[in-house]
Amino acid sequence: MQKIAIAIHGGAGTLVKGKMTPEKEKEYKDILSMAIETGYQLLEEGKNAIEAVEKAIIVMENSHLFNAGKGSVFTANETHEMDAAIMDGKSLNAGAVTLISGIKNPISLARDVMNKSEHVILAGEGALQFAKYLNYALEEPSYFYDEFRHQQWIEIKDSDTFQLDHAVKKESKFGTVGAVACDKNGTIAAGTSTGGMTNKKFGRIGDSPIIGAGNYANNQTCAVSCTGSGEFFIRGVVAYDVSCLMEYKGMTLQEAADEVIQKRLLKIGGDGGLIAVDSKGNIAMPFNTEGMYRACKDSEGLDEILIYDV
Ligand code: ASP
Repeated sequence: MQKIAIAIHGGAGTLVKGKMTPEKEKEYKDILSMAIETGYQLLEEGKNAIEAVEKAIIVMENSHLFNAGKGSVFTANETHEMDAAIMDGKSLNAGAVTLISGIKNPISLARDVMNKSEHVILAGEGALQFAKYLNYALEEPSYFYDEFRHQQWIEIKDSDTFQLDHAVKKESKFGTVGAVACDKNGTIAAGTSTGGMTNKKFGRIGDSPIIGAGNYANNQTCAVSCTGSGEFFIRGVVAYDVSCLMEYKGMTLQEAADEVIQKRLLKIGGDGGLIAVDSKGNIAMPFNTEGMYRACKDSEGLDEILIYDV
Protein backbone atom coordinates (compact mmCIF):
# COMPACT_ATOMS: atom_id res chain seq x y z
CA MET A 1 0.00 0.00 0.00
CA GLN A 2 1.14 3.53 -0.79
CA LYS A 3 2.59 5.22 2.26
CA ILE A 4 1.53 8.84 2.88
CA ALA A 5 4.11 11.11 4.44
CA ILE A 6 4.77 14.75 5.25
CA ALA A 7 7.71 16.71 6.64
CA ILE A 8 7.95 20.38 7.54
CA HIS A 9 10.67 22.78 8.67
CA GLY A 10 10.69 26.17 10.32
CA GLY A 11 14.32 27.10 9.65
CA ALA A 12 17.76 25.77 10.54
CA GLY A 13 20.43 27.61 12.47
CA THR A 14 22.15 28.31 15.76
CA LEU A 15 19.61 26.47 17.79
CA VAL A 16 21.57 25.44 20.84
CA LYS A 17 20.00 23.20 23.45
CA GLY A 18 19.32 24.99 26.72
CA LYS A 19 19.23 28.51 25.22
CA MET A 20 15.51 28.60 24.74
CA THR A 21 13.08 28.57 27.65
CA PRO A 22 10.83 25.50 27.89
CA GLU A 23 7.84 27.79 27.28
CA LYS A 24 9.33 29.11 24.03
CA GLU A 25 10.21 25.60 22.93
CA LYS A 26 6.64 24.57 23.55
CA GLU A 27 5.33 27.52 21.51
CA TYR A 28 7.41 26.43 18.52
CA LYS A 29 6.47 22.79 18.90
CA ASP A 30 2.79 23.65 19.16
CA ILE A 31 2.82 25.47 15.82
CA LEU A 32 4.92 22.73 14.19
CA SER A 33 2.43 20.19 15.50
CA MET A 34 -0.52 22.18 14.20
CA ALA A 35 1.13 22.51 10.79
CA ILE A 36 2.07 18.85 10.40
CA GLU A 37 -1.34 17.66 11.60
CA THR A 38 -3.09 20.00 9.16
CA GLY A 39 -1.09 18.62 6.25
CA TYR A 40 -1.28 15.00 7.36
CA GLN A 41 -5.03 15.08 7.81
CA LEU A 42 -5.48 16.36 4.25
CA LEU A 43 -3.33 13.52 2.94
CA GLU A 44 -5.39 11.04 4.95
CA GLU A 45 -8.56 12.46 3.42
CA GLY A 46 -7.07 11.73 0.01
CA LYS A 47 -6.17 15.32 -0.88
CA ASN A 48 -3.11 15.79 -3.06
CA ALA A 49 0.42 16.61 -1.92
CA ILE A 50 0.24 20.22 -3.16
CA GLU A 51 -2.82 20.87 -1.01
CA ALA A 52 -1.15 19.37 2.08
CA VAL A 53 2.04 21.36 1.51
CA GLU A 54 0.22 24.66 1.02
CA LYS A 55 -2.05 24.28 4.03
CA ALA A 56 0.77 23.16 6.35
CA ILE A 57 2.83 26.18 5.30
CA ILE A 58 -0.10 28.56 5.85
CA VAL A 59 -0.20 27.54 9.52
CA MET A 60 3.43 28.60 9.90
CA GLU A 61 3.03 31.76 7.79
CA ASN A 62 0.21 32.81 10.12
CA SER A 63 2.44 32.54 13.19
CA HIS A 64 4.78 35.37 14.20
CA LEU A 65 7.33 32.77 15.32
CA PHE A 66 8.69 31.98 11.88
CA ASN A 67 10.38 34.14 9.26
CA ALA A 68 7.60 33.84 6.71
CA GLY A 69 4.29 35.63 6.24
CA LYS A 70 3.36 37.35 9.51
CA GLY A 71 6.78 36.91 11.14
CA SER A 72 8.89 38.03 8.17
CA VAL A 73 12.13 39.87 8.90
CA PHE A 74 12.76 43.53 8.04
CA THR A 75 14.62 44.70 4.95
CA ALA A 76 17.13 47.57 4.99
CA ASN A 77 14.23 49.89 4.09
CA GLU A 78 12.25 48.73 7.14
CA THR A 79 9.81 46.90 4.90
CA HIS A 80 9.03 43.24 4.25
CA GLU A 81 9.86 41.48 1.00
CA MET A 82 8.70 37.89 0.98
CA ASP A 83 9.53 34.99 -1.32
CA ALA A 84 7.73 31.67 -1.82
CA ALA A 85 7.66 28.72 -4.20
CA ILE A 86 5.66 25.54 -4.71
CA MET A 87 6.21 22.62 -7.08
CA ASP A 88 4.22 19.55 -8.10
CA GLY A 89 6.33 16.45 -8.67
CA LYS A 90 3.91 14.77 -11.06
CA SER A 91 3.46 17.52 -13.65
CA LEU A 92 6.67 19.40 -12.81
CA ASN A 93 4.50 22.51 -12.66
CA ALA A 94 5.85 25.20 -10.41
CA GLY A 95 4.94 28.67 -9.20
CA ALA A 96 6.88 31.27 -7.26
CA VAL A 97 6.70 34.86 -6.08
CA THR A 98 9.52 37.07 -4.94
CA LEU A 99 9.94 40.50 -3.32
CA ILE A 100 6.28 40.75 -2.44
CA SER A 101 4.73 42.66 0.43
CA GLY A 102 1.27 42.90 1.95
CA ILE A 103 0.29 39.33 1.09
CA LYS A 104 -0.73 37.31 4.16
CA ASN A 105 0.06 33.91 2.60
CA PRO A 106 2.74 34.11 -0.11
CA ILE A 107 2.58 30.32 -0.59
CA SER A 108 -1.00 30.61 -1.84
CA LEU A 109 0.00 33.28 -4.33
CA ALA A 110 2.83 31.01 -5.52
CA ARG A 111 0.27 28.23 -6.00
CA ASP A 112 -1.91 30.61 -7.99
CA VAL A 113 1.05 31.56 -10.17
CA MET A 114 1.45 27.85 -10.88
CA ASN A 115 -2.23 27.21 -11.60
CA LYS A 116 -3.57 30.47 -12.94
CA SER A 117 -0.73 32.01 -14.95
CA GLU A 118 1.50 30.96 -17.81
CA HIS A 119 4.56 31.80 -15.77
CA VAL A 120 6.73 30.33 -13.07
CA ILE A 121 8.06 33.34 -11.15
CA LEU A 122 6.37 36.72 -10.65
CA ALA A 123 8.22 39.50 -8.85
CA GLY A 124 7.44 42.63 -6.82
CA GLU A 125 4.89 45.05 -8.24
CA GLY A 126 3.90 42.67 -11.02
CA ALA A 127 3.22 39.88 -8.57
CA LEU A 128 1.08 42.24 -6.53
CA GLN A 129 -0.89 43.25 -9.63
CA PHE A 130 -1.51 39.56 -10.24
CA ALA A 131 -2.67 39.19 -6.62
CA LYS A 132 -5.04 42.16 -7.00
CA TYR A 133 -6.38 40.68 -10.22
CA LEU A 134 -7.20 37.54 -8.23
CA ASN A 135 -8.86 39.67 -5.52
CA TYR A 136 -6.30 39.03 -2.80
CA ALA A 137 -6.77 41.28 0.22
CA LEU A 138 -3.69 43.35 1.07
CA GLU A 139 -2.54 43.49 4.68
CA GLU A 140 -1.25 46.69 6.25
CA PRO A 141 2.46 46.75 7.20
CA SER A 142 1.34 46.63 10.85
CA TYR A 143 0.15 43.04 10.32
CA PHE A 144 3.76 42.03 9.69
CA TYR A 145 5.22 44.10 12.52
CA ASP A 146 6.94 42.10 15.21
CA GLU A 147 8.84 43.82 18.00
CA PHE A 148 11.57 41.20 18.16
CA ARG A 149 12.18 41.26 14.41
CA HIS A 150 12.29 45.04 14.53
CA GLN A 151 14.97 44.93 17.22
CA GLN A 152 16.97 42.42 15.15
CA TRP A 153 16.90 44.90 12.31
CA ILE A 154 17.71 47.97 14.45
CA GLU A 155 20.84 46.22 15.72
CA ILE A 156 22.32 45.92 12.25
CA LYS A 157 20.53 48.53 10.18
CA ASP A 158 23.46 50.97 10.09
CA SER A 159 25.93 48.32 9.06
CA ASP A 160 26.47 46.85 5.66
CA THR A 161 25.66 43.38 6.86
CA PHE A 162 22.57 41.40 6.27
CA GLN A 163 21.91 38.32 8.25
CA LEU A 164 20.29 35.00 8.28
CA ASP A 165 17.47 35.04 10.73
CA HIS A 166 18.85 31.79 12.11
CA ALA A 167 22.35 33.13 12.67
CA VAL A 168 21.39 35.36 15.56
CA LYS A 169 23.24 34.02 18.57
CA LYS A 170 20.80 34.91 21.33
CA GLU A 171 17.44 33.51 22.12
CA SER A 172 15.86 34.08 18.78
CA LYS A 173 12.91 33.64 16.57
CA PHE A 174 14.02 31.72 13.55
CA GLY A 175 13.17 30.69 10.18
CA THR A 176 12.04 30.18 6.75
CA VAL A 177 9.30 27.56 6.55
CA GLY A 178 8.77 24.65 4.19
CA ALA A 179 6.86 21.44 3.63
CA VAL A 180 7.19 18.33 1.48
CA ALA A 181 4.55 15.63 1.13
CA CYS A 182 3.75 12.33 -0.54
CA ASP A 183 0.06 11.64 -1.17
CA LYS A 184 -2.03 8.46 -1.63
CA ASN A 185 -1.15 8.39 -5.34
CA GLY A 186 2.57 8.56 -4.69
CA THR A 187 2.70 12.13 -5.98
CA ILE A 188 5.09 14.40 -4.14
CA ALA A 189 5.27 18.19 -3.76
CA ALA A 190 7.44 20.82 -2.12
CA GLY A 191 6.77 24.35 -0.87
CA THR A 192 8.92 27.02 0.78
CA SER A 193 8.10 30.48 2.14
CA THR A 194 10.37 33.13 3.67
CA GLY A 195 10.94 36.75 4.58
CA GLY A 196 14.57 36.29 3.50
CA MET A 197 17.38 37.91 5.45
CA THR A 198 17.27 40.76 7.95
CA ASN A 199 18.51 44.07 6.48
CA LYS A 200 18.63 42.72 2.93
CA LYS A 201 18.74 45.37 0.23
CA PHE A 202 19.06 46.06 -3.50
CA GLY A 203 16.22 43.63 -4.23
CA ARG A 204 18.12 40.66 -2.87
CA ILE A 205 16.45 37.34 -3.65
CA GLY A 206 17.36 34.15 -1.81
CA ASP A 207 17.09 30.51 -2.80
CA SER A 208 13.51 29.93 -1.62
CA PRO A 209 11.66 31.13 -4.76
CA ILE A 210 14.28 29.74 -7.14
CA ILE A 211 13.13 26.40 -8.54
CA GLY A 212 15.95 23.90 -8.13
CA ALA A 213 17.81 25.93 -5.51
CA GLY A 214 15.57 26.17 -2.44
CA ASN A 215 12.62 24.17 -3.71
CA TYR A 216 12.11 21.30 -6.13
CA ALA A 217 9.82 18.31 -6.73
CA ASN A 218 9.90 15.45 -9.21
CA ASN A 219 7.99 12.17 -8.74
CA GLN A 220 10.93 10.27 -10.29
CA THR A 221 13.25 11.38 -7.49
CA CYS A 222 12.25 13.61 -4.59
CA ALA A 223 10.58 16.76 -3.25
CA VAL A 224 12.88 19.13 -1.38
CA SER A 225 12.50 22.35 0.65
CA CYS A 226 15.63 24.11 1.90
CA THR A 227 16.57 26.59 4.61
CA GLY A 228 19.87 28.34 5.22
CA SER A 229 22.24 30.86 3.67
CA GLY A 230 20.42 31.37 0.38
CA GLU A 231 23.35 32.54 -1.71
CA PHE A 232 25.09 29.20 -1.16
CA PHE A 233 21.96 27.21 -1.85
CA ILE A 234 21.55 29.03 -5.15
CA ARG A 235 25.17 28.43 -6.17
CA GLY A 236 24.96 24.80 -5.11
CA VAL A 237 21.56 24.35 -6.85
CA VAL A 238 20.92 22.35 -3.72
CA ALA A 239 17.37 21.02 -4.12
CA TYR A 240 18.00 19.90 -7.69
CA ASP A 241 21.36 18.45 -6.75
CA VAL A 242 19.65 16.04 -4.33
CA SER A 243 17.34 15.01 -7.16
CA CYS A 244 20.26 14.60 -9.59
CA LEU A 245 22.23 12.39 -7.22
CA MET A 246 19.22 10.10 -6.99
CA GLU A 247 18.57 10.13 -10.72
CA TYR A 248 22.08 9.91 -12.10
CA LYS A 249 23.92 8.12 -9.33
CA GLY A 250 21.12 5.93 -8.01
CA MET A 251 21.52 7.16 -4.45
CA THR A 252 18.72 6.73 -1.92
CA LEU A 253 16.93 9.83 -0.65
CA GLN A 254 18.87 9.82 2.61
CA GLU A 255 22.24 9.31 0.91
CA ALA A 256 21.63 12.09 -1.61
CA ALA A 257 20.33 14.55 0.98
CA ASP A 258 23.28 13.85 3.31
CA GLU A 259 25.81 14.12 0.50
CA VAL A 260 24.54 17.56 -0.48
CA ILE A 261 24.08 19.07 3.00
CA GLN A 262 27.00 17.45 4.85
CA LYS A 263 29.58 17.51 2.05
CA ARG A 264 28.88 19.61 -1.03
CA LEU A 265 27.22 22.56 0.73
CA LEU A 266 29.81 22.62 3.52
CA LYS A 267 32.60 22.57 0.96
CA ILE A 268 31.44 25.89 -0.48
CA GLY A 269 30.82 27.36 2.99
CA GLY A 270 27.04 27.09 3.15
CA ASP A 271 25.08 26.35 6.28
CA GLY A 272 21.53 25.14 6.66
CA GLY A 273 19.41 22.10 6.02
CA LEU A 274 16.58 20.62 4.04
CA ILE A 275 13.59 18.33 4.26
CA ALA A 276 12.91 15.81 1.53
CA VAL A 277 10.48 13.04 0.64
CA ASP A 278 10.37 10.52 -2.20
CA SER A 279 7.38 8.92 -3.90
CA LYS A 280 7.61 5.87 -1.63
CA GLY A 281 7.07 8.14 1.35
CA ASN A 282 10.65 8.00 2.69
CA ILE A 283 11.74 11.15 4.52
CA ALA A 284 15.16 12.76 5.07
CA MET A 285 15.83 15.90 7.14
CA PRO A 286 19.60 16.61 7.24
CA PHE A 287 21.15 19.89 8.46
CA ASN A 288 24.70 21.05 9.15
CA THR A 289 23.80 23.63 11.81
CA GLU A 290 23.13 23.11 15.53
CA GLY A 291 19.45 22.60 14.95
CA MET A 292 16.48 22.84 12.64
CA TYR A 293 12.82 23.24 13.57
CA ARG A 294 11.29 20.20 11.96
CA ALA A 295 8.54 17.61 12.11
CA CYS A 296 7.55 14.53 10.14
CA LYS A 297 4.71 12.04 10.08
CA ASP A 298 3.80 9.05 7.95
CA SER A 299 1.17 6.32 7.78
CA GLU A 300 3.56 3.72 9.20
CA GLY A 301 3.80 5.36 12.59
CA LEU A 302 6.60 7.90 12.19
CA ASP A 303 5.61 10.98 14.19
CA GLU A 304 8.31 13.41 15.37
CA ILE A 305 8.69 17.04 16.28
CA LEU A 306 12.33 18.04 16.77
CA ILE A 307 14.48 21.14 17.18
CA TYR A 308 18.02 20.07 18.04
CA ASP A 309 20.47 17.56 16.69
CA VAL A 310 19.78 14.17 18.20
N1 ASP B 1 17.13 30.56 2.64
C1 ASP B 1 16.51 31.81 3.03
C2 ASP B 1 17.10 32.93 2.22
O1 ASP B 1 18.29 32.94 2.00
C3 ASP B 1 16.70 32.14 4.45
C4 ASP B 1 16.27 31.09 5.42
O2 ASP B 1 16.37 29.90 5.16
O3 ASP B 1 15.82 31.49 6.51
O4 ASP B 1 16.37 33.83 1.86
